[in-house]
Amino acid sequence: MSDIYDLVKRYPWLPSLKTYYSNIALRNPLDFLNEIFSSNKSKDLKNRVLNLFTDAFNNIEQISDYSFDETNINIYLILRILLYALNDKILSNRVANIYSKTTYNVLNKENEYNLDCIYKDLDLEVNYEEKPTVYKKIVLKSQEEISRTNFKISFIDYLKLASKLKDDYRKLVNNALQHGYVYIKPESLNRLLQEHVRMKLLAQNIRESTNLDVFKEKLFEIQEFKELYDTIVAIWELKKDEFEYTVDITFKEGQDMSKVFPPCIKEILSKAQEGQNLIHTERLFILWVLNALKYPEDKIINVFSTLPDFDREKTAYQVKYAIKKGYTPYSCKSLKSYTLCMANKYKDKLCLNGYFSKKLQEQRQISHPLFYIQYKQFVASIKTKPEKTNLNDKDA
Ligand code: SF4
Repeated sequence: MSDIYDLVKRYPWLPSLKTYYSNIALRNPLDFLNEIFSSNKSKDLKNRVLNLFTDAFNNIEQISDYSFDETNINIYLILRILLYALNDKILSNRVANIYSKTTYNVLNKENEYNLDCIYKDLDLEVNYEEKPTVYKKIVLKSQEEISRTNFKISFIDYLKLASKLKDDYRKLVNNALQHGYVYIKPESLNRLLQEHVRMKLLAQNIRESTNLDVFKEKLFEIQEFKELYDTIVAIWELKKDEFEYTVDITFKEGQDMSKVFPPCIKEILSKAQEGQNLIHTERLFILWVLNALKYPEDKIINVFSTLPDFDREKTAYQVKYAIKKGYTPYSCKSLKSYTLCMANKYKDKLCLNGYFSKKLQEQRQISHPLFYIQYKQFVASIKTKPEKTNLNDKDA
């Protein structure tokens, strides 16, 4: 009992999660999130979930801070809720891939006893035999290659697990089958479990959108969850467009970047210059934008210096804190929901009509203000070159 109890921390997708951690696994998701995000674990959890998504978006093979504590169970449950709420197949694939690959690597380090426990928990008909069986012999240039294993799986369970993997060598006919069992090495079996875990996470994408909207409204009442969700969306929006127009958009001394700012940024900066008050969301957004553009600390503070309630010491502290945290600015979607998108007011063509993506061969909408800047900078850099280019920048 205690073996599988500990294994569940490593592999929260095991069925025994519901038995040994029923207090969290069987709870209403809203109650679970409410409790977990109001506990002292909240900060650590948010960081680890965010790191996982960032690793996934960066196409890293392995989750960088995967650990086998109880938090790992909470992360898995939050992950499932997030994937459900985000409802984005490409994003889910990225996350499911990194999560399942990490699972595979961890599984391969398990001893045979633990593997046997895991297979049993999954109700797989896998038999372990003390004495390894030789199931394949290949002779190549007088060298003999012998494959042995202590594991065999019933062909029905093998087919269930392998059905989504299309490689020829996984077909039943290409495997050693005897008396209804497929002889298999643990790494190959673990590769099938990797796929099982991947599919489990992808299953979060199947739903009716009306139910999803209602559920999301309730989820967003949990402030910490909403912040986490918005940050993930912002990073993802930025990532999707990345590398198509690769230019360095960071601050350079003496360079006037205001020409390439989108309306949402221009509006807030001009309000600040006029000494108008800024609402909290506007302040956060502009602070995160300038920080993302690597504006020097004193220049960021000076942007706020014209505000009616400016307090240099307080602002300096907030700026330092934001720099340390490295928050990602809101995406266009979030800015629209905060009514901070100024595309219509400024009649900005790029914001209103989008741009033609050469990479995707389609017209796309601007999804992130930082991408707007990147695109404008790219177009400006092309225009300063004498030679002709094929860039379709008619909307810029
Ligand atoms: S479309 Fe995006 S970049 Fe353009 S103004 Fe609106 S929020 Fe800003």
